[in-house]
Amino acid sequence: MSTTTGDGAQTESQTQAESQTQAIAREAAHLAHNYHPLPVVIASGEGAWVTDIGGRRYLDCLAAYSAVNFGHSNPVLLEAARAQLDRITLTSRAFHNDRLGPFAEDLARLAHKELVLPMNTGAEAVESAVKVARAWGYRVKGVGAGRANIVVMAGNFHGRTTTIVGFSDDPQARDDFGPYTPGFRTVPYGDVEALAAAIDEDSVAVLVEPVQGEAGIILPPPGYLAGVRELCDRRRVLFVADEIQSGLGRTGSTFACDLAGVTPDLYLLGKALGGGIVPVSAVVGDAAVLGVLRPGEHGSTFGGNPLGAAIGSAVVAMLATGEPQARAAALGVLLRERLEGLVGHGVEAVRCVGLWAGIDIDPALGTGRRICELLMERGVLAKDTHGSTIRLAPPLVVEEADLAWALDQLEAVLASA
Ligand SMILES: *Cc1c(COP(=O)(O)O)cnc(C)c1O
Repeated sequence: MSTTTGDGAQTESQTQAESQTQAIAREAAHLAHNYHPLPVVIASGEGAWVTDIGGRRYLDCLAAYSAVNFGHSNPVLLEAARAQLDRITLTSRAFHNDRLGPFAEDLARLAHKELVLPMNTGAEAVESAVKVARAWGYRVKGVGAGRANIVVMAGNFHGRTTTIVGFSDDPQARDDFGPYTPGFRTVPYGDVEALAAAIDEDSVAVLVEPVQGEAGIILPPPGYLAGVRELCDRRRVLFVADEIQSGLGRTGSTFACDLAGVTPDLYLLGKALGGGIVPVSAVVGDAAVLGVLRPGEHGSTFGGNPLGAAIGSAVVAMLATGEPQARAAALGVLLRERLEGLVGHGVEAVRCVGLWAGIDIDPALGTGRRICELLMERGVLAKDTHGSTIRLAPPLVVEEADLAWALDQLEAVLASA
């Protein structure tokens, strides 16, 4: 390499590094510090790839926590959004809009349920389900006024609102945000007997992530979800499945519950439902449960807006083909094989389902955060969770060769760390 070229490249990359540093400093000066992002400033994205402000490309192996399951700038979803932007975007539920009915019909059909309650963020779907379950308990099951309880799982992640963090057992999520909403009890995830012991006549719901995502892709033990279903039936308690991260293709099926052959009473959906374009969430269930809500008892200014509904319909149409799910399942085989080969080589354990992996890194090699920094230097964006675990969840549209390349980078990082 000639000196001139070398110096030129050096200067250019220095300038890029400086502008990246400046962009990050500007953010830090005016943003609440509730996040600790990797030092990359993304400016655009297409498919599974994103590009930073210096023009460097990275393979996105987080996909916005599965909100971008169908890829950045998905042409079908962008077209649905653009077409709707030109018509109308927000009406409020004070009036009908011509997109919401079709969206509710499409989503109910996909879930084999009767009714849809549209909201915006995942946490709102969870909050809505808590209200629905309580109202069902009082009005249908006959629980005494103010006595309803909901059983939740240790290690859960259901969002960040005050009620939800109150039943989290993660000190970072919970500490100093009390007083906490009463009416929740916690049992170990995966333990049907503990769940049976926690349920009493005032129990209205069991709230469970079929796969615990934020906890590190913790998979349900064989038979567990079927056991939850059986118990909920026998004790007349609603089975509420938080599929906000696990649902809509990630696990190689439409819902993670499908893999266990169970149907919950309520599905909670979010993230990918908005196609990575706008926040769209929903509670989906039958009229016997969701039908308890009466006009004026619950709502949302933006929930069910025509823009979100148009995008949501396009998302459901894609899932109705089964193609994204099949792709996640097929690529998941490669992901699993490659990761299992790393166990004993810097990796202590891996948990995979579909195109979703939790990887416990040997703590001697450094924190999960450090591994993610090293991956970033090699052009792969991933996210740590809880100490030395990292998760991989690329968009389901990722090319097989790109996925294999990302795994090469992980292998190289582990070898050099
Ligand atoms: C992300 C997530 C939520 C919360 O969704 P937000 O849109 O961030 O409010 C709830 N439950 C699970 C399982 C999630 O992964």
